[in-house]
Amino acid sequence: MVQRKIGTVVHKELVSETLMRFRLRPEPDGRFPDYQAGQYIALRRDDCKLTRKRGVGPDGKPIFEPEVDPWGRQTIGPVTHSYSIASAPAETAEHGWLEFFVALEYGFHGLPGRLSEALFGMSPETSCEVTYYDRIAGTFTLSARAEEFECVLFVGTGTGVAPFVSMVKELHARGGGGDPRRYTLLHTNRTVAELGYHDALFEIEAAGRFDFMYVPTVSRPSEHAGVDKRIGQGRASNVLRHIFDLPTTEDDKLTNAVGDVAHMAAGLALERLVHPVLPGHLTASAIRDRVDPASTVLLTCGNPVSTADIKSTAARRQIRFELEEW
Ligand SMILES: Cc1cc2nc3c(=O)[nH]c(=O)nc-3n(C[C@H](O)[C@H](O)[C@H](O)COP(=O)(O)OP(=O)(O)OC[C@H]3O[C@@H](n4cnc5c(N)ncnc54)[C@H](O)[C@@H]3O)c2cc1C
Repeated sequence: MVQRKIGTVVHKELVSETLMRFRLRPEPDGRFPDYQAGQYIALRRDDCKLTRKRGVGPDGKPIFEPEVDPWGRQTIGPVTHSYSIASAPAETAEHGWLEFFVALEYGFHGLPGRLSEALFGMSPETSCEVTYYDRIAGTFTLSARAEEFECVLFVGTGTGVAPFVSMVKELHARGGGGDPRRYTLLHTNRTVAELGYHDALFEIEAAGRFDFMYVPTVSRPSEHAGVDKRIGQGRASNVLRHIFDLPTTEDDKLTNAVGDVAHMAAGLALERLVHPVLPGHLTASAIRDRVDPASTVLLTCGNPVSTADIKSTAARRQIRFELEEW
């Protein structure tokens, strides 16, 4: 039975209204179990607004509603979920904390996520304690997924960059450790601020302790994105398609649309599309040269719709595909 322990949040930073980073210290005089970059841990808060299943929607998916007590108040209780660790093992060894990069979930039923809402609400008034399970788990690690490959292509969407941030920071901390492999990280979030780790990742790339290329893009480009030419545009799935010389998802949908309605919907989606644009200093062929399909493994994590599309690109280009499922 894995022990539950109570940690304390020592740093909480709102990256945007729906995205935050926080650092968790272990219980007093304790330490977190050793871990490898890419692993996760289960966290829990006891002040979550609980929900219950109301039924099943027309798409076959369950619908949830607030769970209420006999007086009509929403029930409060514990919720536990897994979170990828965004800190590097070297950072934890030095400082003791684990870092997390967490999105405020909004279900399609419009309710905020139970645990993510409680994590966002943490403050000295509501308590900065987070229960953790004293076990760090998962096989989404370089040793388990990338050992026999010369090139590693990470594709992260949103907070799905967390395991890759841990891996990249760890490789940097170890000074590359004589690792001859080429690492490329493609990461997309909605805005520049929401990339979350771009400053640190640009610094690691510039330090050149190991062969690393960082390819950030934003799916909702703003004036700010236009200023920093090191940041491209478009969803990760479409940027990846662009790198491998494939049409965007929206172009494919229009080509394959059958019937007027499907054709019109696909046409509208194409009109609204933020076309993939690489950072100003990079070309698709320069990136392709780093990720020869025969010697590359593509590791992805994040939004399930995007990762499904990324999987199909990997299959079309015969690249080994590895997924961290959230
Ligand atoms: C290995 C792993 C690593 C992860 N790492 C991260 C990370 O680094 N950052 C991050 O932001 N997220 C991460 N996640 C996702 C995270 O675990 C949570 O799923 C996410 O934060 C949403 O939790 P929530 O309680 O806020 O949402 P929930 O309230 O759990 O809502 C999420 C969905 O669950 C369903 N749901 C709602 N109520 C109920 C109910 N009563 N019973 C059952 N289902 C319900 C609904 O479909 C809803 O859309 C990771 C997941 C895994 C598996």
